[in-house]
Amino acid sequence: MNAASQQLETIPVTRLKGVGAALEKKLNSLGIHNLQDLLFHLPFRYEDRSRIASIGSISAGETVQIQGEVVSTDIQFGRRRSLRSTVKDNSGFITLRFFHFSNAQKSSLAVGSQVRCYGEVRRGRSGLELFHPEYRVVRENEDIVVEDCLTSIYPTTEGLGQTRLRSIANQALAFLPPNADGDSIVGSTLQELLPDELIKKYRFRSLVDAIRLIHRPPLEAPLSWLSEGKNPGQHRLSFEELLAHRLCMRRFKSDAQQQSAPKFSDSPALVASFLEALPFTLTNGQQRAYKEIADDLARACPMLRLLQGDVGSGKTVVAALSALHAIAQGYQVAIMAPTELLAEQHFANFCQWFEPLGINVGWLSGKTKGKARITQLASVDNGDCQLLVGTHALFQDEVIYAKLGLIIIDEQHRFGVHQRLALREKANQHALNPHQLVMTATPIPRTLAMSAYADLDNSVIDELPPGRIPVNTAVISNDRRDQVMQRIESACKENSQAYWVCTLIEESEALQCQAAEVTAEQLTLQLPDIKVGLIHGRMKPQEKVAIMQRFKQGDLQLLVATTVIEVGVDVPNASLMVIENPERLGLAQLHQLRGRVGRGSTRSHCILLYQTPLSKAGKQRLSVMRESTDGFYIAEKDLELRGPGQVLGTQQTGLMSFKVADINRDADLLDQVKEASELVLEKYPEIIDPLIQRWLGDNVLYANV
Ligand code: ADP
Ligand code: MG
Repeated sequence: MNAASQQLETIPVTRLKGVGAALEKKLNSLGIHNLQDLLFHLPFRYEDRSRIASIGSISAGETVQIQGEVVSTDIQFGRRRSLRSTVKDNSGFITLRFFHFSNAQKSSLAVGSQVRCYGEVRRGRSGLELFHPEYRVVRENEDIVVEDCLTSIYPTTEGLGQTRLRSIANQALAFLPPNADGDSIVGSTLQELLPDELIKKYRFRSLVDAIRLIHRPPLEAPLSWLSEGKNPGQHRLSFEELLAHRLCMRRFKSDAQQQSAPKFSDSPALVASFLEALPFTLTNGQQRAYKEIADDLARACPMLRLLQGDVGSGKTVVAALSALHAIAQGYQVAIMAPTELLAEQHFANFCQWFEPLGINVGWLSGKTKGKARITQLASVDNGDCQLLVGTHALFQDEVIYAKLGLIIIDEQHRFGVHQRLALREKANQHALNPHQLVMTATPIPRTLAMSAYADLDNSVIDELPPGRIPVNTAVISNDRRDQVMQRIESACKENSQAYWVCTLIEESEALQCQAAEVTAEQLTLQLPDIKVGLIHGRMKPQEKVAIMQRFKQGDLQLLVATTVIEVGVDVPNASLMVIENPERLGLAQLHQLRGRVGRGSTRSHCILLYQTPLSKAGKQRLSVMRESTDGFYIAEKDLELRGPGQVLGTQQTGLMSFKVADINRDADLLDQVKEASELVLEKYPEIIDPLIQRWLGDNVLYANV
């Protein structure tokens, strides 16, 4: 970078020709304020406009560029008013059709003017038509110049057309330092943040070359260059973006490592008593995970660890063992679950395990009210309560812990990155920070573990307790509902039990519960010999507990439920699950649900009862469920089919939503990103802030709430 060069981020867009206040506002709404923003506003696809087709040779379905003379323009009144303009060249005629148009447009298409148009050919009212083509009037003695590179199509906003945006982007590109062809206005530049060492090592383009290559790809490049992630410029930017995200997550982690936490060293006597009382021995996977956690707890900086394991792998026991370390040293433990029902299950488990050991277990949810709430809060505050189980209510302002040493979050993919970080902030109000253990219900695909969870260390329970028989899954159309009824009847005749899960599109919990009620009534009529129960999210906590107890004791044979039973329900005698409209759920969620059966010693079955017609994508997803019971495999597929935003539930927020990168497409970059982030942390810490600022901008603040 030479001394005379000016950073493009300091040059406002208004410096460009034709950018006045009105256009500036539009650009601002796209997040574009200066020339650097403009250059980082990247096209999402390309078109080939290097050739002008002769009108006589084109056919419907093609996307073409034509040029010709306007021979008529008029407004047609039909079912919808439209502007029709006929254009001819020496091979034929074609109609341009606009349903939205202005008077200015009408006059620009005056008879006799030459226009160049680009658009898709369709069969319309008057034969072949171009619907809403991009067009421009060609001046009289203008040469027929065609594009010398593929044409970039940009994300844009209302009232800002591609032609205009492209011309502005081209102006900004001209500010870049000269390339081999030497076209540059001044010696201004974009700051290259990646150290030479990295660029050489991975043979990346320089930032300037990368930007140029994305905006102005050569004509020989494939039109799918961007969608397939093959443009080397895009490749380099994806890398830089993923690196920025990873460094941001690593920053959270290293911040935590600067903090102090209480040390829980020796394995307490409580652990021995607890293990003795358990009716089983730990699997090797559980033992390994527990040891990793115990090692962390013995350090003086806060643990940030992810505990992964498939449904039913026994994460709760490992959490309990960890909790005993804190409790034995006089510290409190908070266990947070994403739903009331799961929290209740944990509460029941922990009471059963810990009360015999003389440990005081408390309960708090948003629904804990009145005197119960006051008493509970007081006992957390004065330290009597040693283990508090609940929902996110555990971290409301009014909850004050006397001595919080460990937070356990049963994440179940519902708490996003943000909530996790927010919680950490909240917990960090004392001189000593609590340790944190995050349990995920569904395994996290490696790509996400390396990006969205890069701030956490990782423990994996990679086996199920012995004796589990994999659930057999069938995908059945709703037309064959009768067969499903028979299956339920015969299962119940053999003294087994079944779930019927209702899923609904409606956002409203009330409607979901109503539908489950209707289904329960219908099933009661259709299966007169079977005792049918109902559970849903709108029931009172005591009612839910009562129903679950009756189901567990075998009083009820068929339990109709909304997806509230997704987590935490443990009834080994249930061996059949019917999931209605499974096509509406994500794979991870289906896997969770299915994990509710297959807990006993008999073979279990899961019936995915779909509504016809089923889309191709829907079929594909359900067949993943039929083929596999491996949570790790299913999670990978889920990510592939739905994308990270959906899987993490973060598409609304900045973190983990990428401008250039795509976790699936760019998965092969992640190892390099990981390696590079270590190198940057060690040798080039000065580029961390600018990189995070460039790619995450203000979203980092959001992450830090
Ligand atoms: P998840 O990992 O899905 O949270 P849980 O912790 O709920 O699984 O455990 C599932 C079931 O397996 C529980 O009934 C639990 O008591 C039982 N379990 C846990 N560990 C073992 C083990 N090592 N051997 C036998 N059963 C176990
Ligand atoms: Mg669990």
